[in-house]
Amino acid sequence: MMTTTLTGQRFVHLDDYSPIIGAPEVAELRALAASLRGHSIQMVNSTAVGGGVAEILIRLVPILQELGLSIRWDVITGGNDFFEITKAFHNALHGAPHHLPPASFETFLAYNEQNLARLHMDSEFTVIHDPQPVALIQGRNHPSGHWIWRCHIDLSRPNPAVWQFLEPWVRKYDGAIFSSPEFAQKLPIPQYLFFPSIDPLSEKSRELDPELVQGVLDHYGIDAGRPILTQVSRFDRLKDPVGVVRAYRIVKRYFDCQLVLAGGKADDDPEGELVLSEVNEAAKGDPDIHILNLPPWSPVEINALQTASTLIIQKSLREGFGLTVTEALWKKKPVVASAVGGIPLQVIHKYTGLLAHSVEGTAYQIRFLLSNPALAAKLGQQGHEHVREHFLITANAKRYITLFLNLLRAG
Ligand code: UDP
Repeated sequence: MMTTTLTGQRFVHLDDYSPIIGAPEVAELRALAASLRGHSIQMVNSTAVGGGVAEILIRLVPILQELGLSIRWDVITGGNDFFEITKAFHNALHGAPHHLPPASFETFLAYNEQNLARLHMDSEFTVIHDPQPVALIQGRNHPSGHWIWRCHIDLSRPNPAVWQFLEPWVRKYDGAIFSSPEFAQKLPIPQYLFFPSIDPLSEKSRELDPELVQGVLDHYGIDAGRPILTQVSRFDRLKDPVGVVRAYRIVKRYFDCQLVLAGGKADDDPEGELVLSEVNEAAKGDPDIHILNLPPWSPVEINALQTASTLIIQKSLREGFGLTVTEALWKKKPVVASAVGGIPLQVIHKYTGLLAHSVEGTAYQIRFLLSNPALAAKLGQQGHEHVREHFLITANAKRYITLFLNLLRAG
């Protein structure tokens, strides 16, 4: 029952998920949502496009709306100074050193106050995503409102200075959601485990016409006749794109393959330009390395590149979850990824992909899979089933609805 709007955007109906998750699951989702009708929900994050959080909200919000729920999504704004601070916070929460002056904490709070004056924070259920808008909770004024902090970051080894600043804010919430049990903190509020998710019917994850896929390869000068190794990621040091180039150079001694590094920049990430120039430098002199700096919203191109790939790499140094891994597994691709953050929840070593811990290890696992295509295909198939079971947007929607219903019941 998929229809197309005038802009060419495909409009997905809830029933379209039945062939994927089964009609009873869809019916259960509808029944649960019916109990939540009339209650208002608000999601707040720091970017409308680019990165995994926006990627989830772009699909989660319309699905909850189609379920008849009253939900809005707000994006906070800030100057470069704010996003430089929040990127430093992001890196520090992932365990990097923190060098910002104490005044940066004041600037951070000032931008939160500015956003508070601009936004209407009056919903019954407010979900604040990640640290950037965490201090909006000071504007909590709905008498029976519930506030949840949804953290998408790997918090297993946070830099103490930044966590000590954020923790008093987090304590004010009614609960915190993390993507992995390993990210849980010592907090006096309930903590929940929610997996991030992909939408199998989105432009990023739906099955594409082979001619369209070939067209994208032709456009970027990529040869479909030789193995294609791909990493899709923002140009961010924590995604280690230079490490990917080094691993590829080792593999290249044994296989006539190509490397695609497809990325872009998120509105809330000021480091992209610098990292992109580092990658260009590392890739110099090899025409089989394709560094694609894509516009922030390029779901079909990314889908086509993932679909056309022989193997997908995700060589992150830190990773909250890694939706790029989920997207690859859903497309039945063999994946070689770093054993960091939420990745091992998805890549179960030797069952849904292969894990690695270094440049050399990544190269070794890639070579192994290129030499064993039957095993590579089996891992991809099992990865697809693993995603269907745990990481689809319908499961994520159900998890939110159930949480809200429980909060309502608890008063
Ligand atoms: N992505 C994109 N364009 C890019 C790079 C990434 O659309 O140039 C998408 C990617 O397909 C995935 C998301 O952004 O859906 C990245 O999520 P992930 O959890 O892998 O990493 P994050 O960027 O949130 O750290």
